[in-house]
Amino acid sequence: MKAAVVREFGQPLVIEERPDPEPGPGQVRVRVEASGLCHTDIHAAHGDWPVKPAPPFVPGHEGVGLVEETGEGVTHLAVGQRVAVPWLGRACGRCEHCLSGWESLCESQVNTGYGCDGGYAEKMLAWADFAQLVPEGVSAVDAAPLTCAGVTTYKALKVADVRPAQLVAISGVGGLGHLAVQYAKIAGATVAAIDVTDEKLELARELGADILIDARTQDVGAELKRHGGAHAALALAVSPAAFEAVNSGLRRGGKLVMVALPAHGTLQVPIFDTVLNGTSVIGSIVGTRQDLAEVFQLHADGRTKVIHETRPLTAVNESIDDVLHGKVKARIVFDLGAGGRER
Ligand SMILES: [Zn+2]
Ligand SMILES: [Zn+2]
Repeated sequence: MKAAVVREFGQPLVIEERPDPEPGPGQVRVRVEASGLCHTDIHAAHGDWPVKPAPPFVPGHEGVGLVEETGEGVTHLAVGQRVAVPWLGRACGRCEHCLSGWESLCESQVNTGYGCDGGYAEKMLAWADFAQLVPEGVSAVDAAPLTCAGVTTYKALKVADVRPAQLVAISGVGGLGHLAVQYAKIAGATVAAIDVTDEKLELARELGADILIDARTQDVGAELKRHGGAHAALALAVSPAAFEAVNSGLRRGGKLVMVALPAHGTLQVPIFDTVLNGTSVIGSIVGTRQDLAEVFQLHADGRTKVIHETRPLTAVNESIDDVLHGKVKARIVFDLGAGGRER
């Protein structure tokens, strides 16, 4: 089977021929149909973050495909079922985080495409308990971006406790932001979308955003305040300046939810304003299996639209360049045999 492998940080990925991986106890082997490109994969390939993966490794945590073989002890998944293999590859199931519904904070978790090989391959392994069944009617190419971009923004809105009649600011309308706009609308909120290209602002408008803010020409904080200030703001753009701008547009009691992970960056939080205005700054990382099940259910019910562009896995290096240069409208999905079919 073919896989796109990071052999050295910062170097182009290498397409390699590898033997099919053998599922161990509790694992399944998945024949990957579609695999999304998340910015995190680029950080992984560049070794950008303090905790680094160990080359050689296969990135990718939006892999979706069909179960091809089940390992010992796997009873709830069967060959032929479509599953998604998210960032949360496995968690311990016993710690305080796992037991309190916060498995995404488990300190013993293994992350797909980071701590173990991921979805940039024709075949991959998954821990069966953490592989998410994809409902009937959801295609592999749609399921892929939902597996990280979808669940991450859906969870961030839950963390912000968004309610109808609130103003929600979505800073950055890309792979994550285009889904965040839709989830905020489903939650009943008024949505202000912020970006720096006409194309992305137009996409946000098409997906239901009520207010568009062009950060190139408009003062983001002042614009949000003109509308009363945001009850919640999701920072999805990989730019510390964008975090600060949207933080300045919170209303009293508002919440900034930090989601994007710039390689380097510190947010200057003004103490006086934060204390007086009672605002919060919260970090939010991916979501749980239940969150992902809800994301898939919403899509199966026809309530969300995934904007993607499919490419072959051999285009992995150009695709990374295009993402880094902001040339991609929403999400690149590598087509590994889905052929764009709807099921
Ligand atoms: Zn991701
Ligand atoms: Zn745990």
